[in-house]
Amino acid sequence: MTEEQTASPWRGWGWLTPHRANIAIVLILFIALPPLTARAMPKWFTGTTTLVFCKAVAIAVAAISLNLLLGYAGQISLGHAALLGFGAFTSGVVTSKYNLPMYVGIPAAALISAGVAFLVGLPALRLRGLYLAMITIAFGFAMQQSVFRTNYLSGGSAGIALPRRVINENDLTNNADFLVVALVLLLIVWLIDVNVVRTKLGRAFKVIREDEAVAQSFGVDVTRYKLTAFVLSGAIAGIGGALYGHSVGFVNGESFGLDSSLLLVIMVVVGGLGSRAAVVTAALIFTIFPHVMETLFPRLLGWHLIIGALLLIFTVARNPGGFAGAMHEARERAEKLRRRAEEDEIEDAGALPKLPSLPRPAGLADRPTADVPIVLHATDISVRFGGLQALSEASIEVPRGKIIGLIGPNGAGKSTLFNAVSGLVRAETGNVTFLGEDITALRPDERARRGIARSFQNIGLAKSLTVLENFLLAQHQVATYGTGTALLYSRRGARIERELGDRAREAVEALDFTRFLDTPVRNLSHGQQRIVEIGCLLVTAPELVMLDEPSAGMSPGAAENLAVRLADLRDELGRTVLLIEHNVPMVLDVCDEVYVLDHGEMLAHGLPAEIAQHPEVIGAYLGATTVGVAP
Ligand code: ADP
Ligand code: MG
Repeated sequence: MTEEQTASPWRGWGWLTPHRANIAIVLILFIALPPLTARAMPKWFTGTTTLVFCKAVAIAVAAISLNLLLGYAGQISLGHAALLGFGAFTSGVVTSKYNLPMYVGIPAAALISAGVAFLVGLPALRLRGLYLAMITIAFGFAMQQSVFRTNYLSGGSAGIALPRRVINENDLTNNADFLVVALVLLLIVWLIDVNVVRTKLGRAFKVIREDEAVAQSFGVDVTRYKLTAFVLSGAIAGIGGALYGHSVGFVNGESFGLDSSLLLVIMVVVGGLGSRAAVVTAALIFTIFPHVMETLFPRLLGWHLIIGALLLIFTVARNPGGFAGAMHEARERAEKLRRRAEEDEIEDAGALPKLPSLPRPAGLADRPTADVPIVLHATDISVRFGGLQALSEASIEVPRGKIIGLIGPNGAGKSTLFNAVSGLVRAETGNVTFLGEDITALRPDERARRGIARSFQNIGLAKSLTVLENFLLAQHQVATYGTGTALLYSRRGARIERELGDRAREAVEALDFTRFLDTPVRNLSHGQQRIVEIGCLLVTAPELVMLDEPSAGMSPGAAENLAVRLADLRDELGRTVLLIEHNVPMVLDVCDEVYVLDHGEMLAHGLPAEIAQHPEVIGAYLGATTVGVAP
């Protein structure tokens, strides 16, 4: 007998660590509790009470769905109840008309609602804020008035039954038993939501919520991820709606009106946008509480909507983060106070840490690189904003391994040229060639994936996310797993996420920022944010690094240091840099060539020493004072 064969009977159960065993026991208890309690205490746990719990669990699923869309991705939906409606009607048709079990009806509900959400999401891609709110309200109202009144779905206005069919004519009539089904589904949806948050999906959603331009510069395909958010949210809403329908046993068009949509928004906002546990708790309380009140004070019936509305107003005015946000903020304030002294120290020291030097990630290794001598070639770029000609036929050429400076007075069009190169603004005329490839027609995220990394004048980070999350986001383009892998958090997805995490930690460590790993970026000083931003640019080892006034907001010491670090970038890491800088002595000192932009036109181009002597440049920009240049 080999040693392996004599091993304990637990062989093959190695994955069952004590921690996991505990979680499993808690989950089993959590699910077994309702039927056991109902049978042990029939007096307290009546069928009616249990039904309220079933409904509450269904609403909690719906709240997770809206939280994904509104809390993570920042896309408002004021007609969400209509998606629940599609779920309920679908499962109703499947179970009552086709006599199929609800285990078929509920997945079908998820599918149909996901499809409808996709269709709603398509126009929503172009709309934001108030317009998106209006179109989703209109969608909810239109569905209630039309589709939900058709004979096929709801028997006209009569409604449709949702039997809890298990097999043939056997239904799950006991509410306590059905509560188990509802809880299991809540658990599954909860876990999927956990996987969304801990993978590139959640990070992409959150950066879209904050700033779409920043998302694109991180290489996030905004259109695709917005649609993904709608579809996922729709699928979960379908499950919630079907659960609700099977709880009450019967629904009609009135069950999913605008009041339900608004109540759902209230729950999610008051509970705390983006916080799963808070949102689920709010949904449970909002559903159970009115029934308690109704039993105790029957005359207060219907007041829960008014109480909810008041809570909503209070939340939006005082605590935009909801209850979860308020608690989180209190914790953060305490932490910040504790940190303040330490932070001041770092600022005053003024030393900019060494920039991380990481090898190119495997996912990008196949990119065409090497022997193209001119990395970037932008020719005759013209950009117009209404009546303002921001750029007229400006051209710039960036050779490999050099630092090219771009200077010019405020409003000259420097940032606009960056935007034209990275694809955030469309040029009227001109071409952008990157590594020999014409990229003029490409989207910003496609350009980012080809190796153009840029910083923004006003910090291009997702500020409500932590330093670690931003470094993970910066590697979005190398997170090469698909949406399905993300939702299941399969072994491959977990491995790639671990690699991204290791790389992120390595970069943060190189910056000597490990203590800020879990600090939201907005809590850092401006100079520190700038360092994190540059670190994020470098984490995927891009071909071209474009920096828009990196020294702005840095302490003088750090700014001086920046010049040294930029030279490192070129000399030690072999990177190519295009630099917009107000600090002219620094530009003349560190750059190999300098371009001067004035009123949208390229005024001059040459070696730093030539630029410093250029009469027109001195007249237009540098002023009469001579600038000190190293010979
Ligand atoms: P710089 O970075 O050189 O200071 P910018 O490129 O930011 O200058 O701006 C050039 C000109 O274009 C400015 O007059 C600015 O007001 C204008 N501008 C920039 N972006 C926009 C925009 N999105 N819409 C309208 N005008 C803009
Ligand atoms: Mg600018």
